[in-house]
Amino acid sequence: MAVHIPRCPHCAKSIDVSVTLMERLRFWVTPMVSCPSCSRAVEPGHARIMGNAYGEWAVQFMGELKMVADQLPLLKEVEARRLMGTRVHDEDIHLQQGFDALSRACLSAAKQILKEKAHGQDADLDVAPLPDPATGQTALGAVLAKSSTSTGEKEWEILLARISKTQYVCYLPPASTGIEQRVRDAVQQKTHPGLRAHASLTEHSHAIGRQPA
Ligand SMILES: [Zn+2]
Repeated sequence: MAVHIPRCPHCAKSIDVSVTLMERLRFWVTPMVSCPSCSRAVEPGHARIMGNAYGEWAVQFMGELKMVADQLPLLKEVEARRLMGTRVHDEDIHLQQGFDALSRACLSAAKQILKEKAHGQDADLDVAPLPDPATGQTALGAVLAKSSTSTGEKEWEILLARISKTQYVCYLPPASTGIEQRVRDAVQQKTHPGLRAHASLTEHSHAIGRQPA
């Protein structure tokens, strides 16, 4: 397992856990560090465990994001907006220069989920290609995030499009919109690819059954 930067187990921000020599000599107490972000006292060991767990989930998420980003066709911005369903004056559409910027934006939007996953909670984070309904071909990418039951199973989606060789746009639809059915279908199709195959098999056998003997 790769070693990732230590993180605060409470707020998941990265944290410096280097302990001074004097603190090390006070071996009868566990040295604690104060999180600069949330000010809570953190055991360095816990921050390392948190950092590694969070880091592993982040690496997995970025890998899935890369796989989907690599499949995205080049779209004109107006076409990307039409497919994403953004409004003309929507300010939630963000231009990202290159995959690194795109992945940073998505990691930031998914931070709560990664934190909950690192704590072993039942949060979900999925990435799936989204087809153009007119052609059935992959046009956009979609991220579906769902927080754990302990934080109310909140859901949000992010839509991704590629508008040049090095430029992506990502769009976070307003929370009031809710999750689009096409995003749920794409994630379902990705996580349970057998479902559609099974459905078409059933249709096929029905078709055979309907054939005159
Ligand atoms: Zn903290």
